[in-house]
Amino acid sequence: MLPVVALVGRPNVGKSTLFNVLTRTRDALVADQPGLTRDRHYGICHHGSRPFVVVDTGGLSGEDEGIDVLMARQVQLAIGEATIVVFVTDARAGLMAQDREILGDLRKRGKPFVVAVNKTDGLDEHASLADFAALGVDRLVPLAASHGRGVDGLMNAIEPHL
Ligand code: GDP
Ligand code: MG
Repeated sequence: MLPVVALVGRPNVGKSTLFNVLTRTRDALVADQPGLTRDRHYGICHHGSRPFVVVDTGGLSGEDEGIDVLMARQVQLAIGEATIVVFVTDARAGLMAQDREILGDLRKRGKPFVVAVNKTDGLDEHASLADFAALGVDRLVPLAASHGRGVDGLMNAIEPHL
């Protein structure tokens, strides 16, 4: 079985953008026709030294529930099946209460995780990371998923856990 990397985080931080960057292969492009893979949440990443499954946790659950319930369930589902979790945050929004909640869940479950600080494009990288240093995690990776930047650093952080 391939290792599983789950992308977890608040809505709009860039999880699906990162998912698309990680899973973009020739096969995926071929299959990327309307109606085929647009709402798929699983993909394979071939960028590193060994392939792994990527899970995008957006929209895994019903729509009629509150966002907190929805997010909590997504996080639990994703954490349960993951080998390692990529906790995606938003450098522009800064550290938010929901980020701390998700981090609390991750720590409770004892699952390996790295924190990706996304949307660092056009920002001072050090200042962006400093805000998130308050989380007290040892792995903070700067990312600009929509520009394809920082993906190598993220891969380096993930790979030892696969
Ligand atoms: P999700 O809800 O976490 O899946 O977030 P999406 O991947 O749908 O992205 C939400 C918005 O953030 C979209 O408008 C993206 O284009 C934008 N976005 C994603 N990554 C970046 C980034 O690295 N930099 C900037 N500036 N915007 C980004
Ligand atoms: Mg999404």
